[in-house]
Amino acid sequence: MVQISCRDLCLGYERKEIVRNLNFEVCSGDYLCVIGENGSGKTTLLKVILGLDKPMSGTLELCGGLRRRDIGYLPQQNEFQKDFPATVREIVLSGRQAKRGLRPFYSAQDKEIAQHYAGKLGISDLMGRCYRELSGGQRQRALIARALCAADKMLIMDEPVAALDNSSAVEMYDIVSELNEKGMTVVMVTHDSAAVRRNAKTVLEIGNRIFCGSTGDFMALSPEES
Ligand code: ADP
Repeated sequence: MVQISCRDLCLGYERKEIVRNLNFEVCSGDYLCVIGENGSGKTTLLKVILGLDKPMSGTLELCGGLRRRDIGYLPQQNEFQKDFPATVREIVLSGRQAKRGLRPFYSAQDKEIAQHYAGKLGISDLMGRCYRELSGGQRQRALIARALCAADKMLIMDEPVAALDNSSAVEMYDIVSELNEKGMTVVMVTHDSAAVRRNAKTVLEIGNRIFCGSTGDFMALSPEES
């Protein structure tokens, strides 16, 4: 089932065009890796999917019953205020905010889900700590847990292994793969070409070269890079 349908999409800011005529679809259960050099528009594309930025032209539609509140988003860490005066618990729980609707408090289920993902990311002991006191790697784990709390149908991650050491990165990839095997759609911006080869079902490359297709076709096209 198609969840994102993108037709003749042009991305840019003011008059400056960054990406032209992008056409692709993301289907339920896909694991799409978005690659391309710095400044090629990967983060901008994620923001257009999330409705945080508007395309210059063309259309990007959410379909198949996907709503923006079904999507969990891990932004690039430098965009998330490092001196945010909140506890790790508040940060992780805030992933449930869109599900809370008009209720003034988080439900017991919201709290259970937050505990569950904090446990998976190994940060249960840090829940009472202030986010701004954490190391870069601990912050990244908190933000990943937050994104997982929000991800009912789709998980969008912008360079998730930034700030993670090797073993933490392996754990993170395992968690994401496990969710993907259970049906979660994954859209991941990454520079980690080994992870693309290992995990991606489809690849979208933007920049000088535009490619959208299976990981196998991508590797056949550019064996030296992958
Ligand atoms: P990537 O994620 O591939 O590194 P980005 O989507 O972050 O690329 O940025 C693409 C281009 O758009 C860059 O040249 C960047 O400087 C520019 N850009 C990003 N955000 C804005 C913005 N809010 N206003 C103007 N230009 C922007």
